[in-house]
Amino acid sequence: MSNTQKSTSDVQPCPNCETELPVPKSTRSFICRECDAIIKVIATDDGAVLKVVGKSVEEDPTYQSYEAQVAELVAELDDLHKRYVVEMAKKPGPSAFRIGLLGLVAFIAGALTTIWSLSIGGVIGGLGLLVAVAAFVLHGTRMAAFQSRAGEMSKAIERIGHERDVIQRKAALLKVTI
Ligand SMILES: [Zn+2]
Repeated sequence: MSNTQKSTSDVQPCPNCETELPVPKSTRSFICRECDAIIKVIATDDGAVLKVVGKSVEEDPTYQSYEAQVAELVAELDDLHKRYVVEMAKKPGPSAFRIGLLGLVAFIAGALTTIWSLSIGGVIGGLGLLVAVAAFVLHGTRMAAFQSRAGEMSKAIERIGHERDVIQRKAALLKVTI
């Protein structure tokens, strides 16, 4: 078998069992249909050369590295999901908002009270307004912080899930049998 033959032919013998195999263009490694060896296509100046890299897909170093990456991403996703659930449970309740409404009622009551007593009505109304503003601001700040945390986490979950899918697809491609 000369190099000239290799460069002109798309069919090469399996380096493990000598079965004639079509050399794939789309995958860098594949599995021999006869002996299950993992064969890597190495591009050289003289054309593609086949090399045995393992006797089963689990032995393929590229496959192993994909598997390790996927396992890492899955663990990361798992952790993120748990944290996301915890974060969701921290959603701000309506208590601050309700206090704000009470403040608003006090403000209106205070305003009405000024009809017969300017000082008492002014104190009630003023305090009510202060409470209402403070409570609404607090509620708004809490909600904004919660929504930004939740949004960031779901974006991270989506990104890592996508990364995992991409690597899993790459790993699946290595299992192509020829
Ligand atoms: Zn073979």
